[in-house]
Amino acid sequence: MRAEAIARIALEVLARQGQRTPPVDIDYVASGEGLVYILTDVERISGGYFCDLDGHGHAIISSREHPLRQRFTKAHELGHHLLDPAAPPVQILQPSAYRKTNSPRHWAQEYFAGSLLMPRPWVGDFIRDTLGWGARDELIREVARRFQVSRAAAEVRLRELRHIDESTRP
Ligand SMILES: [Zn+2]
Repeated sequence: MRAEAIARIALEVLARQGQRTPPVDIDYVASGEGLVYILTDVERISGGYFCDLDGHGHAIISSREHPLRQRFTKAHELGHHLLDPAAPPVQILQPSAYRKTNSPRHWAQEYFAGSLLMPRPWVGDFIRDTLGWGARDELIREVARRFQVSRAAAEVRLRELRHIDESTRP
């Protein structure tokens, strides 16, 4: 799936769930899209998605992670829920059935998460109306604060949207 198609799906989801300004209420959005989060103390994974026999989505989210990181993982798992081709539902959840998030294999879900939590038009409006064209570090810090994401996630997204340049990387 192409990046533009993923970003369009993210915008459709936000519109459908009545989200108009940052920060996105990810729990509300996921609930509206039929995905339930299970916050629990798991090691070695940040999240995992499965679909039950009735077709409802469930996502395990590691309670060990920083809350901002959890938000991104929740958005990533919503990406599995909405983007993945229908897989046979699992009957028994085994640890081996967990999909470790943020591996390079899950590029589409990562891109979806960034597009959902930091939609291109919202980021553009924020920079133009509120922030102006500040220094690179300030841009990252303020977008992270406003959109409730980690600075690392804000930096990746700002680079995707060409608000910061590869060449300005330290
Ligand atoms: Zn994943």
